Amino acid sequence: MPYIDPHIHMVSRTTDDYARMAEAGCIAVTEPAFWAGFDRSNPAGFFDYFRQLTDTEPKRAARYGIAHYCWLCINPKEAEDVGFAREVMGLIPEFLDRPNVLGIGEIGLNKNSRNELVILEEQIELARRHDRLILVHTPHLEDKLKGTRLIIDALRNAAVDPGRVLIDHVEEHTVAQVLDAGFWAGMTLYPDSKCTPQRAVDIIECYGRERIWINSAGDWGPSDPLAVPKCHVEMRRRGHGEDLTRRISLENPLAFLGQCPSFQPRI
Ligand SMILES: [Zn+2]
Repeated sequence: MPYIDPHIHMVSRTTDDYARMAEAGCIAVTEPAFWAGFDRSNPAGFFDYFRQLTDTEPKRAARYGIAHYCWLCINPKEAEDVGFAREVMGLIPEFLDRPNVLGIGEIGLNKNSRNELVILEEQIELARRHDRLILVHTPHLEDKLKGTRLIIDALRNAAVDPGRVLIDHVEEHTVAQVLDAGFWAGMTLYPDSKCTPQRAVDIIECYGRERIWINSAGDWGPSDPLAVPKCHVEMRRRGHGEDLTRRISLENPLAFLGQCPSFQPRI
């Protein structure tokens, strides 16, 4: 079945991963800008990272028939230094009109600190000014529930249309407040943290199939670029039909991402 992995950090993956994802039915990926596993020593490091996301990676993906899209931002983990973060934000506008750029992400909070919140608010404003979609990262190590509340408050204060925002890494204790507020929700499937495929299917069975998707968030750490098709196996094992897998991993991503006119993967 054709599917979309809407959150995966392909710059950290090998070409073998692209090949295996294509064999499993992956037709498109979207790659948020994130922390590289180390803090960049200079904002100019992000200039090259944005070039990689908007030029190199789409070409690499195309060799496997996979459409590659991306999101740009300064990630919350490197947003503690407000001056540094603002320099990175200053680089973003010149990349926004590149053909594979969907919007601003993954912005959000890491330690729920005051400075992270300042930069989050400024990046929400950047997206609003350029009328772009937003992809949000919610904290893993600190209080996810509190972080999600702070993020929702910041989005509401900026009067952003919740239908144009996806809040990612939701879990059992945060999914309801995200969906009830009208936002889209993403579940991240990780082998040893975040959601397992079983927990993700439990959540879908409890909260329904509206405005929700799954992703692998495959990166440089322990993660699985085939987590999405493996979750489809869990859905089938429980007796769900292809209508559910299509809805979660094709129709929902197409509906949300399709709000950006340049998102046109070949199905
Ligand atoms: Zn990520």
